[in-house]
Amino acid sequence: MNLKNFLLILLVLSLSACSEDSVETKKVEKTEREQVYSNEENKESSNEVAETSETTKTTETSETTKKEDVVIPKLEKLYKLNEANWTIEPINEGNRKVVLLTIDDAPDKNGLEMAKILHSLGVNAIFFVNGHFIESEEEKQTLKQIHDLGFVIGNHTYSHSKLSELTPQQQKMEILSLNLEIEKIIGEKPTFFRAPFGVNTEISRQLVKQEKMLLMNWTYGYDWEKKYQNPHELSNIMVNSPYLTDGANLLMHDRPWTKEALVAIVKGLQTKGYEIINPELIDTVIQ
Ligand SMILES: [Zn+2]
Repeated sequence: MNLKNFLLILLVLSLSACSEDSVETKKVEKTEREQVYSNEENKESSNEVAETSETTKTTETSETTKKEDVVIPKLEKLYKLNEANWTIEPINEGNRKVVLLTIDDAPDKNGLEMAKILHSLGVNAIFFVNGHFIESEEEKQTLKQIHDLGFVIGNHTYSHSKLSELTPQQQKMEILSLNLEIEKIIGEKPTFFRAPFGVNTEISRQLVKQEKMLLMNWTYGYDWEKKYQNPHELSNIMVNSPYLTDGANLLMHDRPWTKEALVAIVKGLQTKGYEIINPELIDTVIQ
């Protein structure tokens, strides 16, 4: 074989290698496209049946799926609020022996630590926040950290005024401005509302409904009474209160003695067989 022929063969071989390569590449591209398409299909069909973990996994593992396409599974609502006594009830069959933990007047000096304690115990709660506690950059970050730990953030009005003593316009500001502020910080509006002192008005009820929030008071709490402003007395009464029933809605506050009592309260309730419910399982739409 002369040099010319040799070079010619070499050229043909390298060209065919190239073209095979590109066929292979096209195949891969096609497979990836099919994969993405099938993910899209999966997503479509799973929309109604609540996203299955399998679909979520497929979506997460597909490199080509854009970040905004990732489906965050919504939790199925299993509980509802009984507005006659503010307890939490299963919607269908479900665990009746549950309690809801709520922390009001947050995030003041103890809120973040309280969230960390509850998080370490593996339980959830609603933190009902006031606007005057989230004005500085540091306070905003505190709220964000509480939310990032997985806690539900509720609206407790901007300045903790008694709504019945305010004009309709002032009530509107108290509720709506706080929703906007919370949304700016955590990226979502609150779905729970609790009025200061449990005092609601016709106007506030209407506003809460318009904002698609669930209004709730509570069933019992003690940490504002002098006698219970120490961890031992407080944990004892919270666990052994005559008002402790299935679905009890427990009111606590961002206070040092409540923070100190939290571990004993949670463990005491669990020892009595109560499950601390995840507030995200409560339906906020049925009203
Ligand atoms: Zn309050």
